Amino acid sequence: MKKYIVMMGPPGGGKGTQARRLNERLGVPIFSTGKIFRSFVKAQTPIGKELAPILEKGGLVPDQLAIDSIREKMHQGLTDAGFILDGFPRTLPQAMAFDRILEGAGLKLDIVIDIQVPDSYIIERTIGRFYCHTCEAEYNETLHKTKVMGVCDVCGGTHFDRRSDDNMETVKKRLQEYRAQTMPVLPYYESRGLLATVDGTGSIEAVARQIEESIQLKVKSRGE
Ligand code: ADP
Ligand code: ZN
Repeated sequence: MKKYIVMMGPPGGGKGTQARRLNERLGVPIFSTGKIFRSFVKAQTPIGKELAPILEKGGLVPDQLAIDSIREKMHQGLTDAGFILDGFPRTLPQAMAFDRILEGAGLKLDIVIDIQVPDSYIIERTIGRFYCHTCEAEYNETLHKTKVMGVCDVCGGTHFDRRSDDNMETVKKRLQEYRAQTMPVLPYYESRGLLATVDGTGSIEAVARQIEESIQLKVKSRGE
């Protein structure tokens, strides 16, 4: 089903995990600006070299770059089947620019899902986070271990990675940025009836169920 979904929430709040769940259920592609920027850094492109110190410190990359990266995906036709956005928009100027882009493309957002997680959860979730090098399935040292130690549940891979920005100092900075820059985007969408708030403290399953219900409710309320 074609859907235009934005996922919001604090760092380590489960946006990426839930985006993947939705992608499996709806078959709609995910675009993660965080992932896009990390790939620039890894490839050591000129932009990547500029971004590396920003990501390392937990700051936000310039709005224009975030906007252009999504605009480019749309121009390439990659979002024609809908999208699940993970990490964009992250500031009010990004949200406003995105509205103009959507309008130009004749598209409308279906729902903005805000996964709410208190600060006390964030540190444990991010600091303990690791993921499968092969399939990118995410785990956590204390909260969500692999069933067999050292082996990915999903693909059987045995090589795992960590994000270099998942350290205490950087996570604190990312949280600050979230509060200052990203939280003001929530009322922007709420005032247009697009926002659905879910409690992100439960199990992956429990959060996924709330998200599915919110999507069904939004679709129903529009009489589709
Ligand atoms: P998380 O939400 O877990 O902090 P992401 O993978 O979404 O992580 O983003 C990682 C980093 O990428 C952010 O800390 C920020 O530096 C940068 N970033 C991602 N998306 C945006 C955006 N839309 N605008 C500005 N910076 C962004
Ligand atoms: Zn795997």
